[in-house]
Amino acid sequence: MSFEDSLWYHTAGGSFAPRPPLPGHLDVDVAIIGAGYTGLWTAYYLHGIDPSLRIAIVEREIAGFGASGRNGGWCSALFPPSSKGIARRHGPEAAVAMRHAMHEAVVEVGRVADVEGIDIHYARGGTISLARNEAQLARAREEVEDERRLTGPVEELELLSKEEAEGLARATRVLGGNYTPHCAAIHPLRLVRELASCVEARGVSIFERTAASEIQPGALVTEHGTVHAEIVVRATEGYTPSLRGQRRRVIPLYSLMIATEPLSAAAWDEIGLRRRETFADLRHLRIYGQRTADDRFAFGGRGAPYHFASRTRPSFDRDRRVHSALREVLVDLFPVVADYKVTHEWGGALAIPRDWHASVGLDRRRGLAWAGGYVGDGVATTNLAGRTLAQLITSQVSELTRLPWVGHRSRSWEPEPLRWLGVNGGRLLMTSADRTEDRTGKPAKRAKAFARFIGY
Ligand SMILES: Cc1cc2nc3c(=O)[nH]c(=O)nc-3n(C[C@H](O)[C@H](O)[C@H](O)COP(=O)(O)OP(=O)(O)OC[C@H]3O[C@@H](n4cnc5c(N)ncnc54)[C@H](O)[C@@H]3O)c2cc1C
Repeated sequence: MSFEDSLWYHTAGGSFAPRPPLPGHLDVDVAIIGAGYTGLWTAYYLHGIDPSLRIAIVEREIAGFGASGRNGGWCSALFPPSSKGIARRHGPEAAVAMRHAMHEAVVEVGRVADVEGIDIHYARGGTISLARNEAQLARAREEVEDERRLTGPVEELELLSKEEAEGLARATRVLGGNYTPHCAAIHPLRLVRELASCVEARGVSIFERTAASEIQPGALVTEHGTVHAEIVVRATEGYTPSLRGQRRRVIPLYSLMIATEPLSAAAWDEIGLRRRETFADLRHLRIYGQRTADDRFAFGGRGAPYHFASRTRPSFDRDRRVHSALREVLVDLFPVVADYKVTHEWGGALAIPRDWHASVGLDRRRGLAWAGGYVGDGVATTNLAGRTLAQLITSQVSELTRLPWVGHRSRSWEPEPLRWLGVNGGRLLMTSADRTEDRTGKPAKRAKAFARFIGY
């Protein structure tokens, strides 16, 4: 089972013994489905606003079992869609407001960890995105220009020369890149496990090994009984399609990761990443990495297939071809890695809404709240979601509840087999675009056109 295969599982410490399941029917004020970051942050801030609220979380496996316990640990201000997408849909002021809110979320995760005494290995070193061919360099420039035009100096996204980029991360074939200070590398599983203990200690009930099958107005139905609540919060991200009536809400897409054994101090002197900057390059099919607190590489990427009918299975967390390719890409970036073993391979499901637009909202009439569709950028965004949901549920109005993602509705994905054909076709096109760009240095226009076509 991949949850237990991850580097994070082996280095988190603490017990993974499941908490007891729901003992039967229950009445609470707020019932939450899913004990990942979204569900837990929502409970954390709700309790902070009104400690008298009765809050229960039901979790099919154990807290942190989903993407929250398996991710790349980029606590970043990235938000789907980008500032360009937000400005196009909601106007330029909304894009600026969203940037500010995301920057705050990165800081807030670190602040709470400090206040609660949770060591999540938080290092706010920013992110370096390397350009390793001319097409990627053109994208680096375009991203910086777009951000300056839309949000002014807010983003602090800097264009880097070859020398500046290599000074941060000495990878091969670097032509330049860009850098944002708004990201911290963290140990993702420590965050979610400790957050669960923290909310439980404040009186929030967490029922594990309890699968919800359906959300009804004012109730969530599980195999062990029904939880009645004024508000039910759906916080199930990549697993949402398994709930009755939610099949086409998002698609689960697998992102896979590897970790190496710790590298020597000499190897890190050669590579850099001295402040544990998270890193990527500017290819279409995203890759992401971090230098962990114990000096390993944790490195991941997309490229695993989408599975027909939005299925999620533990066996999908492993893919020999993708895991081998990840090692090859990491060695290609930093050849010294060839001398080190890959010690862990794992993966997990993230969620993509049809318009690649994360959202948070509350339908008080139906008693339903939700947050998700973070694509691969949920670590900090879930914190913003939790604070926003807590305010919406307690009827507060603030800058957060006015942000453009509040109440946004994405349309449903197409029925099968169109979904399968479109998503896997897109994946192959992106892979081929990256190869062409590596070979020719020219931007692959068809990939860009396709990305626009599918709503990205
Ligand atoms: C490999 C990988 C790498 C990633 N890297 C990054 C990164 O570096 N930075 C970043 O910002 N984001 C990253 N992401 C995305 C990020 O991890 C997620 O967006 C975020 O964790 C979502 O949190 P969540 O609580 O909404 O969902 P999840 O953590 O998936 O939690 C949902 C929970 O709901 C439970 N559940 C589902 N259905 C039911 C049901 N019917 N009944 C009861 N319980 C149910 C699940 O068991 C699960 O525990 C990555 C994702 C993956 C998979």
